[in-house]
Amino acid sequence: MLTDAPPRKGGRARFVESDRMLTLDLPQDGQLFSSTESIDWAMNADVRRACAEFLDATSQFYGVSACGIRVLAARPLRVREHWTSELFGDYAPETMLIRVWMRTAVRKEITSFGTFLSTLCHEFCHHLDFQRFGFPDSWHTRGFYERAAALYHYARGTAPKRLFWVPFRGERWRIDWPRTNRSA
Ligand SMILES: [Zn+2]
Repeated sequence: MLTDAPPRKGGRARFVESDRMLTLDLPQDGQLFSSTESIDWAMNADVRRACAEFLDATSQFYGVSACGIRVLAARPLRVREHWTSELFGDYAPETMLIRVWMRTAVRKEITSFGTFLSTLCHEFCHHLDFQRFGFPDSWHTRGFYERAAALYHYARGTAPKRLFWVPFRGERWRIDWPRTNRSA
């Protein structure tokens, strides 16, 4: 931030007064704070509507029942996903409900658009696993991540990336990100 230079002529005294006034009276009852919470809620409502439109269209394309969507301001206490340490959504197969949240658990930073959309596609792929492919569970397999990535890149209009995998202990696989990003 950069301050203005003092006015060349006239009003200099008021400029100095402004410069020295370092505090502002604030209401004690928290009334203004509750208004900003409404702004927060309204933004979430807009995001929710946009997500619902995306999910409705996508469900229609794949011929599955539409899933519900809930957009939360912060990560709820109980989440279903237990795979990644920093995650932004979950999916409940019984109720076909996707939940996404907009802030990280730890640092309370707002989720980036890319991460948010990627989460939405990831959770939708859980929905597809049950509703379209009829899997008894929705595992995070290599194929699962490939499907989620395909949907994400399509939805974002970016070129699909080939994912490179390296074996991990216990018959698992992890993405080799340096190699995957190099090849993009
Ligand atoms: Zn998942």
